[in-house]
Amino acid sequence: MGGMADEDTTETGRCISCKRTFRYDPRTVETVLIDPQSGLPPGLTVLGTLRPATPEAVARSAEQPVCPDCLERARKFDQAWNPLGG
Ligand SMILES: [Zn+2]
Repeated sequence: MGGMADEDTTETGRCISCKRTFRYDPRTVETVLIDPQSGLPPGLTVLGTLRPATPEAVARSAEQPVCPDCLERARKFDQAWNPLGG
């Protein structure tokens, strides 16, 4: 049992939400699409309200890793915000 291979598959990145540096496995990490122009998902305004995402915003956006803490917060927020569980 126990080997030395496959131990270091993680990468270090900065959480797009809280700016915390954290290690993650790129194969399993949750990512969100972030529009570099606003620093927010293309469908979200700075006020936290939703708006239709324009194709341009989506096109320039890139997947960014999110740390587990923010993911947990987002899930709770999502449940409160979307009671139908969409
Ligand atoms: Zn975070």
